[in-house]
Amino acid sequence: MSEQWIYLNGDFVRKHEAKISVYDHGFLYGDGVFEGIRVYEGNVFRLQEHLDRLYNSAKSIMLSIPHSKEEMKQLVVKTLQKNQLSNAYIRLVISRGVGNLGLDPASCAAPQVIIIAEELALFPKELYESGLEIVTVATRRNRPDVLSPKVKSLNYLNNILVKIEASLAGVSEALMLNDQGYVAEGSADNVFIVKGTELITPPGYVGALEGITRNAIIEFAKDLGYTVKEEPFTRHDVYVADEVFLTGTAAEVIAVVKVDGRVIGEGKPGEETKKLLEAFRERVVIEGEKVYSETLR
Ligand code: PMP
Repeated sequence: MSEQWIYLNGDFVRKHEAKISVYDHGFLYGDGVFEGIRVYEGNVFRLQEHLDRLYNSAKSIMLSIPHSKEEMKQLVVKTLQKNQLSNAYIRLVISRGVGNLGLDPASCAAPQVIIIAEELALFPKELYESGLEIVTVATRRNRPDVLSPKVKSLNYLNNILVKIEASLAGVSEALMLNDQGYVAEGSADNVFIVKGTELITPPGYVGALEGITRNAIIEFAKDLGYTVKEEPFTRHDVYVADEVFLTGTAAEVIAVVKVDGRVIGEGKPGEETKKLLEAFRERVVIEGEKVYSETLR
């Protein structure tokens, strides 16, 4: 495998040399924001939306990103070019920077900008064919008035606790409920249930990240003639749905076939989920920031 280069504060450095200080507040306190983005055959999928979400997250925590969105776009593309990647996962991290041991971000000299691009270790193909078994966990989604789930911050403990509970239950993913008991999302994915040709996903106010894949699926599904509703639902609605699937940059669209021991539908990925995954995989290659594709191919 060829050398992996990481963008770190203005330079490209080799992976084993890409290091930051132990005084960085991203490390000390989870003080920072990030994005996970995919590039498909040279098309960076919905880069503008990812950057909009990144800059909104940063604004919310009063972190000033030292680049314009346009500059950041160019840096993402340069990182892909440097690593000669046209199918990859991109991780963009902006941490508060190096400060002292106090909480106050005022001690941090400047934010650190990190871009990692690497070939994707995709979920095994078998998982898309068999579907996932998941559980709901006791860990509740962060309340929006405590730490907004819309902020994609480096503070992912809420999600990590979900992952730990999932592993303890012997499964790889889990659903979180919000403080009122409505289904919010997975540890790193949004959730949809299918009833006939109707798709239902929790609305923003239930407390989930505003997933770029979620929004793309809503759009693609409407184009295909599905009715899409954004409505709160409970675990019961999940158990009796015809189909259940999760969406995310890494997961794309993945079927869920068992939830808390209840078999969903026929216990295998349903027809609508398969259709939506197919449509998604077609569209991600076609659309995107095509302006960069020529140089990446
Ligand atoms: N929810 C959470 C908590 C996530 O971390 C992610 C992954 N970014 C998602 C949902 C899915 O969002 P997206 O489709 O933008 O990757």
